[in-house]
Amino acid sequence: MTTRIALIAHDHKKEAIVELAGEYVDTLRRCDIVATGTTGARIADAHGLNVERMLSGPHGGDLQIGSQLAEGRVDMVIFLRDPMTPQPHEPDINALVRACDVHNVPCATNISTARMILDVLRLRLAQKV
Ligand code: PGA
Repeated sequence: MTTRIALIAHDHKKEAIVELAGEYVDTLRRCDIVATGTTGARIADAHGLNVERMLSGPHGGDLQIGSQLAEGRVDMVIFLRDPMTPQPHEPDINALVRACDVHNVPCATNISTARMILDVLRLRLAQKV
């Protein structure tokens, strides 16, 4: 079954997630990608990846992804949060991270952990060839 990965980044982390997606573009190409609106557009534009875009985060995109996750439709989450800037949709962000913990779904909230998750994913996919 194809791995379904959620990609989300706050505004100050958009460059970082676009760069990260570029590093792992071959791996991501073999996944189903779901993303919040703006993050998804940035990644699709930069790398030509097929991204299922939800609403923008502040308009409910995190909640939409959380809802899919609760239904067992998201296998891992890369959520590059900005810890230095207050977010209007903080409750939605917390709900998504909580849903990851409730459902035991890997959730990376910084680049180092994101790389670890994507490295494991790359290895798993290499074994499937
Ligand atoms: P965005 O949403 O990708 O639409 O900017 C991310 C967020 O702020 O949660």
